[in-house]
Amino acid sequence: MAIREVREIGDDILTKQCKKVTKMTFRTKMLITDMLETMYEKNGVGLAAPQVGVLKQIVVIDVGEGPIILINPEITETSGEQTGEEGCLSVPGKWGIVTRPDHVKVRALNQDMVPFEVEGEGLLARAFCHEIDHLHGELYVNKTQDGLHDVSYEPEEETEE
Ligand code: ZN
Repeated sequence: MAIREVREIGDDILTKQCKKVTKMTFRTKMLITDMLETMYEKNGVGLAAPQVGVLKQIVVIDVGEGPIILINPEITETSGEQTGEEGCLSVPGKWGIVTRPDHVKVRALNQDMVPFEVEGEGLLARAFCHEIDHLHGELYVNKTQDGLHDVSYEPEEETEE
């Protein structure tokens, strides 16, 4: 297991179409393990394979309800609308306002290459859209309402014990 380097905006790999996974290999399993570890280490709620330099259709997500692994995911249904803040590990220190569907249904393969369906609302729906966009070379920065904003850093107050 290893933390992988997260590619940042400006890196060509983030604009490329990813290939479908055709069979599960030891290497791909290691990649998924590393992606999960990298996502948790960086406090992200999702990570797509191209963000760690691999052009494969693999996404990991955890919005606080446990890990979801999506292989070759496709959005099959959307409804509603939500407008809110979005950020990306590949665009550090920035956020933007993006409108996404509020309810999203996804069809994908699990780690055993067995098809399944998963539904999400709110943050999870947003994460599905954001991460699946990565697999098609799209970043949220092109979908913001009024561009990117800096995350203002407020140092924590020091307390003496
Ligand atoms: Zn992202």
